[in-house]
Amino acid sequence: MAQEKQVVLLPDYLTVRELADMIGASPIEVMKRLIANGIMASINQQVDFDTAAIVVEELGFEAHSASAVAVEEEKQKAVEAQTWRRKYAEERPESLQRRPPIVTILGHVDHGKTTLLDTIRKSSVAAGEAGGITQHIGAYRVLHNGNWLTFLDTPGHEAFTAMRARGAQGADIAILVVAADDGVMPTTREALNHAQAANVPVVVAITKIDKRNANVENVKKELSDIGLTPDEWGGDTLVVPVSAQQGTGLDDLLEAILLTAEDKEIVANPKGEPSGITIEAEMSPHQGTMATLLVLNGTLKRGDIVIAGHTYGRVKAMFDEKGKKLEEAGPSVPVRVLGLSEPPQPGETFETVKNDKTARLIAEERKAVTAQRLARPERSFTLEDVFAQFESGKAKELAIILKVDVQGSLQPIVDGLNNISGDNKDGITIRILSADVGNISENDVNLASASGAIIIGFSVSEDNAAHRTADSMGVEIRHYNIIYKLFEDVELALQGMLEPVFEDKNIGTAEVRQIFKIPRIGTIAGSYVREGELRRNAKVRVKRGGRMIAENLSVSSLKREKDDVREVRSGFECGISLNNFDAFIVGDMMEFYVSERVN
Ligand code: GDP
Repeated sequence: MAQEKQVVLLPDYLTVRELADMIGASPIEVMKRLIANGIMASINQQVDFDTAAIVVEELGFEAHSASAVAVEEEKQKAVEAQTWRRKYAEERPESLQRRPPIVTILGHVDHGKTTLLDTIRKSSVAAGEAGGITQHIGAYRVLHNGNWLTFLDTPGHEAFTAMRARGAQGADIAILVVAADDGVMPTTREALNHAQAANVPVVVAITKIDKRNANVENVKKELSDIGLTPDEWGGDTLVVPVSAQQGTGLDDLLEAILLTAEDKEIVANPKGEPSGITIEAEMSPHQGTMATLLVLNGTLKRGDIVIAGHTYGRVKAMFDEKGKKLEEAGPSVPVRVLGLSEPPQPGETFETVKNDKTARLIAEERKAVTAQRLARPERSFTLEDVFAQFESGKAKELAIILKVDVQGSLQPIVDGLNNISGDNKDGITIRILSADVGNISENDVNLASASGAIIIGFSVSEDNAAHRTADSMGVEIRHYNIIYKLFEDVELALQGMLEPVFEDKNIGTAEVRQIFKIPRIGTIAGSYVREGELRRNAKVRVKRGGRMIAENLSVSSLKREKDDVREVRSGFECGISLNNFDAFIVGDMMEFYVSERVN
């Protein structure tokens, strides 16, 4: 076996003497080698990397560029640090400090989410915090009794879950808004499911208590029914009645959030590597990209090089929510940032890297990965692989989002699934993230993607947007019409015995019109595509007079005119040759088919 060469890391420039020292050769030896390569250099003269590399390799070493290695290492580090949570997890416990909680507002439409956010924002301005009108930048901060809180300014669980689907937790605490005159509604329950799926604690704000038909006690009862028993009734949910319109109860609400935050480890290292999430971003005609970033770890400074998804750039200027210029922003501080090449997507995580070159390389790499994923999305989690994931220690539970046609089928299926979970001795538990009546929506898919869940539909369909998103995110949707079949599949999956089902699907048919026998190449069937599309990587069966004479054949060549092609569409002629079959006669039909997963 060839011995591995010793690697020498060379800087971009170095003197002949330094080069000689690095490889343990005499400077004279190095100078001789240089002269042999047409380069006259004295002992203290600098040579560049390419020149040094020639000498190093001639002397039996392997030359690597030290700066390329540094870039590679940094790139690796940044690619690995996919989410801020990992970065924070890498911090030493003693360097962690408490940071302000990040709060999101969820709840049913028209229950007063936006009004509540506006009132809290205005009250902080009225309190005289540094003056100025607060701009809408997607997040803002409030000071309450000496404690900062950060509010995400886009209410609703859609935004919250879309952010999680991109890999960012997004919020530490959720305010679940319920209007005192309307009570718990379907979206209230859905929002609660989303918060619970994210393990985000909930504080309830009963809003609109100024209204004449407000019934706070009734809302508390309804809350208890969905598992949110108020603390005054012996439960552990803080429930605060407020009127955003009259400004009552807001202090109590902020207090309740801070209390809830105390129980949670909401920490960061202000001196760590800066990272966080994108809240929103836009292209401004005068200034270029303006992005609101929320710092979650470290301290972001002007001049840092930021990379967020596919976009990157040097922070040229930073502003707070009041338009004031900032030099730096620590944990839980939202800042508007100028200087990124393009607007990043909301929810995209960001981090900083040492130089432009690294940022560009990472961005390019991510673009390539995304393009690949779009071309062939990997399923993030499937029912078949739950057992394998469990065995490899990656999963302890099977998370399910259940959608059914009628209320009557909901409880029996939930009970059945819970029984399977209880009976299962292997230790995989079933966690039902949400169980509702209705067709499968894009929102369900986002929740599944964010939570590593699968979607089970019982006698329902999925809308187009849900189908598209599931395809691109690789979320598994399984449909059932028979209850016992649903239970059977889940049971088999937990035992690692569920096999995927594949079915052959015809994609195109070609008719053989002429036979060419070519020496050394073989038989080529000059064919006409009657319908569909022929693909080079598909399987083929040959039929004669309606009877199949060969199947499971692979294509050895597919040509249009003289060119090798990957596909040929209907209405075109082409030349086809197959592996292990050449007995064509004119009039044969070739069916091209692919194997597709059906469940
Ligand atoms: P969202 O859809 O949850 O964001 O709800 P909005 O904040 O847009 O509020 C819906 C409606 O309720 C608006 O007409 C608000 O003026 C009204 N509203 C919100 N909060 C209160 C409140 O505390 N008291 C009263 N009386 N009306 C409110």
